[in-house]
Amino acid sequence: MQHPDTTALQRLDAAHHLHPFNDNAALAERGTRILTRGEGCYVWDADGNQLLDAFAGLWCVNIGYGRKELGEAASRQMTELAYYNSFFQCTTEPTIRLAAKLAELAPGDINHAFFMNSGSEANDTILRLVRHFWAVQDQPQKNIFIGRHDGYHGTTIGGASLGGMKGMHKQGGLPIPDIHHIDPPFWFADGGDLSPDEYGLVAARRLEDKILQLGPERVAAFIGEPIMGAIGVYIPPQTYWPEIERICRKYDVLLIADEVICGFGRTGEWFGSQYFGFQPDIMPVAKGITSGYIPLGAAMFNDRVAKVLKEQGGELAHGATYSGHPVCAAVALENIRILQEEHIVERARDEVAPYLAQRWAELGEHRLVGEARIAGMVGALELVPDKGRRAFFEDRGKVGSLCRDLALRNGLILRATYDSMLLSPPLILTRDQVDELFGKIWKSLDETAAELGK
Ligand SMILES: *Cc1c(COP(=O)(O)O)cnc(C)c1O
Repeated sequence: MQHPDTTALQRLDAAHHLHPFNDNAALAERGTRILTRGEGCYVWDADGNQLLDAFAGLWCVNIGYGRKELGEAASRQMTELAYYNSFFQCTTEPTIRLAAKLAELAPGDINHAFFMNSGSEANDTILRLVRHFWAVQDQPQKNIFIGRHDGYHGTTIGGASLGGMKGMHKQGGLPIPDIHHIDPPFWFADGGDLSPDEYGLVAARRLEDKILQLGPERVAAFIGEPIMGAIGVYIPPQTYWPEIERICRKYDVLLIADEVICGFGRTGEWFGSQYFGFQPDIMPVAKGITSGYIPLGAAMFNDRVAKVLKEQGGELAHGATYSGHPVCAAVALENIRILQEEHIVERARDEVAPYLAQRWAELGEHRLVGEARIAGMVGALELVPDKGRRAFFEDRGKVGSLCRDLALRNGLILRATYDSMLLSPPLILTRDQVDELFGKIWKSLDETAAELGK
């Protein structure tokens, strides 16, 4: 039943609120869904419906909803010192402590954080500072970034240019100059007769071809998500990233792992690069760094890059009013404290992920599912017209949206990209909740199949 306030709020929303990543005309017609409360792995909407959030908000609520400690940390910091900046030889204690904590957690010699407010801004920061890094070493022409078609690195001009989504490039005249893209590693669609491991090497060597075509002296960096999230959770074969790393080292191209989704435990390791066994030079982080409780992003650099930026970079003409905001830093520290003290990442990896993988494979047996892929606590079901063949529906996206809407009616939030049903629950998901998830997805798949049969 619809609560009377809901209708009034929906009218106001339609009248005054432009939504990101929505067809706003269609949304106004349909009425937006208003969420009011969250606890653990569940959220409630304005009409009182309880929903299992198998998408953790937007890949980000890693510790689950309703942890009062984060609100208390924010409140303490706001009372003590609500704001100060990090420009002009200043900063605050939580900002310093967070930078040090991130250095301790980040793999290898990635020991330096530049704070911004989002993943997109972290990527813009990387774009500017990496070009600056090469320029101050007398290589201003080494300014090209290589990303991947269908990659996602956010929506600022830089982030959306580094990403490879055509629909995004169309709006606003992107990409900006000197950004190139190679094809993504997606064995299901592109692997042909190769084994996934053989294919991983083939897909990685597209980077070498591109570097040689452009000239290694022109290529500043390669950027990729360890697992490509937004396009449909493309999990590359294990051979892919070590080969990418080898190629980057060979041509002295900086390797950027966009850890905005994978970071802070999504794969069962703290960072996606650890899951795949490679060492990036630079990584943007956001989302899970605060479990989404407050906005924060950081660009993290290794010792080599930071040393040049410090010793030769001069004044870094970059930053934001809220770079290193003390309240955001205090909340991030509290989030990381909870992740560490409650062993949330390790418990997800050892206690829940194996069981989730088993049940995910069972979902893979459904007649609508062509592939069930999963890595730790992130996965996808690829819905297909013909289970025997690795091929998509003709009208891509229709079936995925249908399944997503049916899941919602069954009390489950899943995301659909085209016909991939995406999974990314809070890391605190229990085994019982895995069973609940399984039941709700299976039912939604059955109902989707029945609708298609009509
Ligand atoms: C979400 C995301 C971003 C952008 O982060 P925002 O905080 O939305 O700006 C960048 N990279 C990846 C891989 C993401 O998933």
